[in-house]
Amino acid sequence: MEYYRNIHRYFKFNINLFEKVLDVQKNKRIFKISTDKQTYESKNLVIATGFYDIPIEMNVLGENLLKVRHYYKEAHEYAFRKVLIVGANNSSVDAALECWRKGAEVTMVIRKNEINNRVKYWVKPDIENRIAEGSIKAYFESNITEIRENEVEILTPNGKITIENDFVLALTGYKPDLNFIERIGIQLSDDELKIPTYNPETMETNVEGLFLAGVVCGGMQTHKWFIENSRIHANLIVDYITAK
Ligand SMILES: Cc1cc2nc3c(=O)[nH]c(=O)nc-3n(C[C@H](O)[C@H](O)[C@H](O)COP(=O)(O)OP(=O)(O)OC[C@H]3O[C@@H](n4cnc5c(N)ncnc54)[C@H](O)[C@@H]3O)c2cc1C
Repeated sequence: MEYYRNIHRYFKFNINLFEKVLDVQKNKRIFKISTDKQTYESKNLVIATGFYDIPIEMNVLGENLLKVRHYYKEAHEYAFRKVLIVGANNSSVDAALECWRKGAEVTMVIRKNEINNRVKYWVKPDIENRIAEGSIKAYFESNITEIRENEVEILTPNGKITIENDFVLALTGYKPDLNFIERIGIQLSDDELKIPTYNPETMETNVEGLFLAGVVCGGMQTHKWFIENSRIHANLIVDYITAK
């Protein structure tokens, strides 16, 4: 983020923050983009909406309680509290370690029998050692079955248990807003991956002048693209548009 902020400080891009795109219509060759603040017109349009705005829910009783959060921001609020973290991927592991280091009593509930292999290689030994030494309690092959105001019920391989709880961080993944992608005319693959249609050489979708960039290109395959490997999308798009 520091790096990208500095790019903006240098180039002074025209960035409109806190503005949601609601609809895109194409009239002849011009896109009309309606946001919650105003309307824009453009000959070309790049969609780079990522996948972080819609959390994947656990669908358990009590998930709607205010103490259940699908986003982790910072650890201080959780100091001296009983925090249950669901998941074993990068977000959950970062949250577990930070909360524990700030004095929270951390328990993890993990569906599989290990920490996910996608966890950054320099972080994975840290969480595994904290679990092994008992600083962070982890229930593997387990699922939350119900969340109540002061406790949580977990189904473990040894049966159902109830533990005291103040907060649940359900970092169970996110999914792209594929309704938005489809609504603006981009075709998705028929299978469960819902990959958007685009030309990998130009990033242009099935709608002429409408491009995709970043992790949204992966559809439900949200781990396919990340910062390092999707940076090339911008070059492909700009080269194609300027050559046209
Ligand atoms: C905890 C964590 C750690 C990570 N660590 C790494 C790492 O070390 N290395 C790495 O390569 N990647 C990492 N990633 C992944 C990285 O953040 C993503 O790959 C990258 O941000 C994707 O960029 P993007 O531009 O495609 O989407 P995003 O960064 O998600 O940006 C999409 C933007 O579009 C906005 N948006 C969505 N819909 C609309 C709409 N209708 N109108 C207006 N705006 C909209 C969103 O609010 C968001 O601001 C990490 C992710 C997380 C969550």
